[in-house]
Amino acid sequence: MIPYGRQSIDESDIEAVVEVLRGDWLTTGPTVTAFEKALAQLAGAARAVTCTSGTAALHIGYAAAGVGVGDEVVTTPMTFVATASSAMALGATIRFVDVEDDTLNIDPALVEEAVTDRTKVVAGVDFAGHPIEVDELKAVTERTGTLLLEDAAHSIGSTYKERPVGSLSDITTFSFFPTKNMTSAEGGAVATLDPDLGLRAHEFHNIGLVRDPERMRYPDEGPWHQEVHAWGLNYRLPDVLCALGLSQLRRLDAFKTRRAEIFARYQEGLEGLDGVRLPTQRGHVDPIWHLYPLRVLDGRRREVFDALRSDGVGVQVNYMPAHWHPIFEDLGYRRGQFPVAEKFYSEEVSLPMFVGLKDSDVDQVIEAVHRAVQG
Ligand SMILES: *Cc1c(COP(=O)(O)O)cnc(C)c1O
Repeated sequence: MIPYGRQSIDESDIEAVVEVLRGDWLTTGPTVTAFEKALAQLAGAARAVTCTSGTAALHIGYAAAGVGVGDEVVTTPMTFVATASSAMALGATIRFVDVEDDTLNIDPALVEEAVTDRTKVVAGVDFAGHPIEVDELKAVTERTGTLLLEDAAHSIGSTYKERPVGSLSDITTFSFFPTKNMTSAEGGAVATLDPDLGLRAHEFHNIGLVRDPERMRYPDEGPWHQEVHAWGLNYRLPDVLCALGLSQLRRLDAFKTRRAEIFARYQEGLEGLDGVRLPTQRGHVDPIWHLYPLRVLDGRRREVFDALRSDGVGVQVNYMPAHWHPIFEDLGYRRGQFPVAEKFYSEEVSLPMFVGLKDSDVDQVIEAVHRAVQG
């Protein structure tokens, strides 16, 4: 079976991890600092804070933004559930709005209608690696005094109008899960343009500990002293995993190139095939393609999905709309509320997309799709 996603680990990654294991710091040492610096630089951000997962990054991002009980977060249903559920962990109410039909990204016009004076954050997702319409969304968040959070779990390395993802929104979150564009096994990061948000993110991910004497209530307590002013959690990513992340970051350009080649090969091999619709890209973005989301028309998604699986192609579906999860259904969200996202979900099949996929594998998938759709 050709898997749908898989990490790419080479000798340089292995050596980087082993070197840290032989050193003095297993966690919260120089490799954390080095990885955070490299991430901030790549993302064009003021600061990056590493953490244990993309879900943790979202939780930290919302906490840094000050999201609390009674606040609203406006977000997209076309995402992994964590984009919404991590804000609920802070007591927020989720207001979903539908997506645009070509990119499957949050629709700025609907965001504009949904924002109220209780809204604290608008959270978009760079679906499949394609950046959200930041300029239109920023126009709304700036006018309404809300913050824009970009869930970039799919899109580290993408650009929008020649600007890197990470430099576009007030808060950007990354995931380094093995199937994502680069990995630290488990891991994630929060990047921000605002040093104050960065400091809050850092402290939330480190139990809320304050170590700067200038900010302490009791600075003369003694050299051992540290204080907590606001609660936080332990979401620290250890040096061992930051070593893998840093090594992978050095390979990200090559990863992006290979993903673009695979994407182009699918586009060429599937062009003109009746009964499917291929993904598209807007002119002002340069995505790193995390997914290849094929749409199977005429109500045949399940049939084509099953045929591909039995033909040795490990396809996936991304995603069941977040509001269909029972946690949201039990709160009153209903099927049919977000027709663009729901129609897409009913058609979607993600084809294998990862750096280690050979051209011959891609051709095998293309032939299998032809067989499945025509058969
Ligand atoms: C993977 C993913 C997450 C969660 O990241 P984890 O590292 O698995 O916790 C959040 N949002 C999106 C869009 C994702 O794809």
